[in-house]
Amino acid sequence: MRARPPGDGGIPQSLSRALDGIRWTPARLSALIQGLPKVETHLHLDGSLSPRTIKDLALLMGDKTIAQKPLAEIERLAVVKSPRASLDEVLASFKLFCRLLREPQAVEEASRRVAQRAAAQNVLHFELRFAPALLAAEAFPQEDVLEAALRGLRRGAAEFGVSSAVIVCLIRDEDLVSDRQNSEMLDLALAYHGRGVVGLDLAGNERARPLSRFKPHYARALKAGLGTTAHAGETPPGDDLDLILDWKLDRIGHGVLAGKRPGILERIRKRAVTIETNPTSNLRTGAVKSLSEHPARSWRRAGIPIAISTDDPGVFGIELGGEYEVLARHWGFGAEDLLAVSLQGLDSLFLPERRKRPLRRRWEALALKALRSLAKPS
Ligand SMILES: [Zn+2]
Repeated sequence: MRARPPGDGGIPQSLSRALDGIRWTPARLSALIQGLPKVETHLHLDGSLSPRTIKDLALLMGDKTIAQKPLAEIERLAVVKSPRASLDEVLASFKLFCRLLREPQAVEEASRRVAQRAAAQNVLHFELRFAPALLAAEAFPQEDVLEAALRGLRRGAAEFGVSSAVIVCLIRDEDLVSDRQNSEMLDLALAYHGRGVVGLDLAGNERARPLSRFKPHYARALKAGLGTTAHAGETPPGDDLDLILDWKLDRIGHGVLAGKRPGILERIRKRAVTIETNPTSNLRTGAVKSLSEHPARSWRRAGIPIAISTDDPGVFGIELGGEYEVLARHWGFGAEDLLAVSLQGLDSLFLPERRKRPLRRRWEALALKALRSLAKPS
């Protein structure tokens, strides 16, 4: 039984009772984070390649230049370990290895490995996003890119027990993706709605094409019942946040600048729009000055739902559990907060309620198990 309705920031009564019996220490919180069932909503396929995967894909693709490099060198090139001056500098890391994803086998294997990585973090379900146009090549059309990713995710589900779905990313940058390609990606997302694709996103540089240019795209997605989100408020000016609320999109990607725009946080709170929150990503791209100054810390206090994700675990060399550690160490989140935001992530998934319900039951059973193992006298 839930103590309160979905998305309200509470946890089920069974968990509240189990929490009462535990004396929390930093070590116990870490153990909870490890055992905590999670979901991930904001996760890019091309940002998920670990150095090991990059090397293996290079071998698979016959890319000798990369395949011959030692792992440590690939890591130095691919992983953004410290804060950068701008998002652009981080996006450059994506471009280095994107070419490894231009064949069906590579996209399939990379997607399968995302499921493997998710399973290791106790993820029950994740939404993987990418722009098929960015991975397509002459002999590898957009639809084949999507099919290859879906094959990899199905294999991942069978091998590692993690379910998943795809969010198609339209791209803001005109030099990367044309208007025509964006329209084709939308058509593809709509054609695969209910067959592996659950949502539409807009990614890329916020100074390139504004969200307003994508009004017809989002109108079609909303009409078809696709889940909707857009990267917005990650870099200035952040005025796309207003449009997300005007158009009644389901979620916001990053939204770090929400508090800088008058009335926006109140509108987000009133409509209970979930903000896909990626703490380390925001630090490394320079969107926030420090983890402790991240605005999501106050969003939870204000009753705004947040969904914790890594954004790009490969590019940043991080894992989802580590992001929950950030909440515990830098935001002062206790066990109840950690459970609650994990549940908020689940509630915000682009899934019909009939599919969310069993997932929620599984989440609750696993969370209870994690709590009970901590309540035992050691
Ligand atoms: Zn992102």
